[in-house]
Amino acid sequence: MSRAEQMDTVTGAAAGTVDRHGTPATFASTDPAGGAVVGVFPVHDARAVQQTVDRARPAARRWAELGFDGRRQRLAAYRGHLARHLHELADLVHRENGKPRADAVLEISLTIEHLAWAAAHARRTLGPRRVRAGLLAADHAAYLEYQPLGVVGVIGPWNYPVFTPMGSIAYALAAGNAVVFKPSEHTPAVGAWLAAAWRAAVPDVADALQVVTGNGSTGAALCRAGVGKLAFTGSAPTGRKVMAACAETLTPVLMELGGKDAMIVDDDADVAAAADAAVWGAMSNAGQTCIGIERVYATSAVYDRFVAEVTERVRGLRPGSDDEAAYGPMTMASQTDVVRRHVADATSSGGRAVTGGTVEGGFVAPTVLLEVPETSAAVQEETFGPTLTITRVRDAEEALERTNATSYGLAGAVFSRSRARAMDLARRMRSGMTSVNSVLTFASVPALPFGGVGESGFGRIHGEDGLKEFTRARAITRRRFALPVDLMSFRRPPAAADALARLMGVVHGRHP
Ligand code: NAD
Repeated sequence: MSRAEQMDTVTGAAAGTVDRHGTPATFASTDPAGGAVVGVFPVHDARAVQQTVDRARPAARRWAELGFDGRRQRLAAYRGHLARHLHELADLVHRENGKPRADAVLEISLTIEHLAWAAAHARRTLGPRRVRAGLLAADHAAYLEYQPLGVVGVIGPWNYPVFTPMGSIAYALAAGNAVVFKPSEHTPAVGAWLAAAWRAAVPDVADALQVVTGNGSTGAALCRAGVGKLAFTGSAPTGRKVMAACAETLTPVLMELGGKDAMIVDDDADVAAAADAAVWGAMSNAGQTCIGIERVYATSAVYDRFVAEVTERVRGLRPGSDDEAAYGPMTMASQTDVVRRHVADATSSGGRAVTGGTVEGGFVAPTVLLEVPETSAAVQEETFGPTLTITRVRDAEEALERTNATSYGLAGAVFSRSRARAMDLARRMRSGMTSVNSVLTFASVPALPFGGVGESGFGRIHGEDGLKEFTRARAITRRRFALPVDLMSFRRPPAAADALARLMGVVHGRHP
């Protein structure tokens, strides 16, 4: 029986791949396209979560003791396992989340690349190094290193059930932490598969990655279980609750929240390329992408051509659950209500849908909205559906002003043939990440940090910042020799302060 097939056996004598910890309550995850049960999982309560975290503590010590080389070797085994079972996992993602298999393959491939990068760069980024001790501590050697936090809690969403949580898990593990992962209640089978794959690939430290399943109450229990840090990815309202729960125990948090990302299309842009990227950025994964493009601001010079190019491309898209479909159903049925509300708000406040605007079953037609007022929910709130607003602006400056006018600030894109202009706009965009002449590319560059500003959260996964996020900086000084005068001693002579002031005058006083 494959690991994916074991997912629905938790209610029987065999507990599937998830340890029940004696929890009687269960819940089922279902295929959003047809409603078939994908797996049955425990609703882990606070006691079960605590047991899991307690079991992770010795694993964290053992994992940390393995050092960078031992961890790198085991993370390679995990990555190899994922690569060898890529299609099995992609099929599970397709069944549980609804996205096309090809998109699942892309998602898992990106994850494997991140795993490789995190493991390969952990020592250089976090390992012990000597730093200059400086003038006032010239008699000391100074050392800096980044030590793991112990057990890290990771709470994930359902939209990229592999890539998104693994952005925290891979970097936390590479930094020397054990992880307890609570996947979304909509994609527990994928989370359970990832943990079972870890046990198979890294049997000697199997408890370094464990999974707990359940709903918000299971997540809240993880916040209160005494983890060294809680990495949360999800919506801003839930993020607030997670922060409040973590505040009770002063547990530090990483917040990867929603977005309302915009694309700026400037006068000199390659309009066809911009349209192609906008359609992919807005519609792929049924628009359920935190860094998806939800708004476009196109200058007057290119607006009509851009709208025509987008409309033509969008008309060729078909949602469905077969392998030829452009994108799948909404993973969460309730999300269709949000999309409906945003489309209705846009059209009742002066906007119009040039295409789409309809919902059939769980499938939302690709929707392009024009002339939507900036105050509309379709422009201000995260829609998380296959919709795009396109707004005509005077120039790129006005586009930037409007781009920066929401409470979110996750990512965005700029299309322009002028490198200097595009880079300037990218730098001034209120976001953590921006792609020039493409969309979402920053997520596929492991060396680049990923995270937002404002209501999109704080802290970073990926890259060196993502490794440091799961550590505490440790400072050490070591006295190398004794100076004749010790400034930090009650035995220092009275004249020492005057001598020090003179020294400051010589070294720093010459600066006007
Ligand atoms: P959500 O906020 O509803 O749930 C996220 C997770 O939090 C789930 O595992 C859920 O069970 C858990 N949870 C719910 N209540 C909780 C509580 N009180 N305490 C602790 N945990 C609790 O989000 P979602 O619908 O699963 O995901 C969609 C959202 O995630 C969107 O807003 C999207 O933009 C965002 N997202 C952000 C990123 C990013 O990296 N910035 C990536 C992917 C998704």
